[in-house]
Amino acid sequence: MKRRRYEFFNGVIILKVMVTGGAGFIGSHIVDLLIQEGHEVLVVDNLVTGKKKNINPRAKFYKLDILDFELEEIIKREAPEVIIHQAALVYVQQSLQKPLEDGKVNILGTLNILRLANLYGVKKVIYASTCAVYGESLGKWSNEEDPINPISFYGASKYMAESYLKLFHKLYGLDFTILRYGNVYGLGQNSQGEGGVIPIFLEKIKRGRAPIIFGDGEQTRDFVYVKDVARANILALNKGAGETLNIGTGIGTSINNLYQSLREILHFSIHPLYQWQRLGDVKHICLNPNKAREVLGWQPRYSLHEGLVECLGGW
Ligand code: NAD
Repeated sequence: MKRRRYEFFNGVIILKVMVTGGAGFIGSHIVDLLIQEGHEVLVVDNLVTGKKKNINPRAKFYKLDILDFELEEIIKREAPEVIIHQAALVYVQQSLQKPLEDGKVNILGTLNILRLANLYGVKKVIYASTCAVYGESLGKWSNEEDPINPISFYGASKYMAESYLKLFHKLYGLDFTILRYGNVYGLGQNSQGEGGVIPIFLEKIKRGRAPIIFGDGEQTRDFVYVKDVARANILALNKGAGETLNIGTGIGTSINNLYQSLREILHFSIHPLYQWQRLGDVKHICLNPNKAREVLGWQPRYSLHEGLVECLGGW
């Protein structure tokens, strides 16, 4: 494995970064920003939900499962300095029906990434975790040190991966930052993902159909814009060693209010239909973003309204 001499771009050290899941919604935004900042980027993605057209043409693409044996050869040969690990199965509801598939990718897949990162001298792993690890917020906000109490297998598998990451750090000194995202929204999101409520609504509205709201619509979520999430990952390249950080806005928005905002921006009059609350869906989740501000110097630049106005035009 050969180590490179550091080069600089606009005063920033150019890093070789591998992004798993870089063809997906959030991963592709991270790849774009990394390339914009002058970094060299490798994407590993099996395209199970991601799309090749999402991948920045300046990134080197390996169509590969994170559990594939070939990954070892690639990490050995390419010797990335950082791995930003986004690849996962992100369906809360599917995790309840197919817990083995969820666990295989989210736990074993991550374990494979960590094993290889450790074996081939990767300096840092930045891990995409989720507010789903908390289950319900206990007070106004979930804080990083709050008890872990997921109510879906997805939340459990994402937390198990966090635990492995911390152990690799403890046992072998592998550096990491864990970023627990709120409900991420923005361009490129598909309608089945964890934060997919906005594209699901939009798809129905475009066809003149009534979107479905599960429960009474008063459940709240912390909606964070994908460009803010991508920026948090870039900041974590050089900061946040050994930290677990919430990446949210600190503002809880009910699904009814979200629907109302969409109505005001897009000027439609369709009323939603209400159905029973689903198993695995929390009532209230909102993230305290203060630690990310202190540690990374990160805070969201987009309000929900600003994010929606920016991305709805392109949807
Ligand atoms: P996504 O489905 O758009 O992206 C996931 C990517 O991983 C896809 O491109 C998919 O093809 C790839 N992938 C899945 N399994 C793979 C495997 N075995 N090998 C290689 N590639 C594989 O989802 P997303 O919303 O962009 O989520 C990205 C990350 O952020 C995930 O780790 C997810 O748990 C986390 N997250 C997302 C949200 C959200 O609101 N979208 C919230 C919290 C956390």
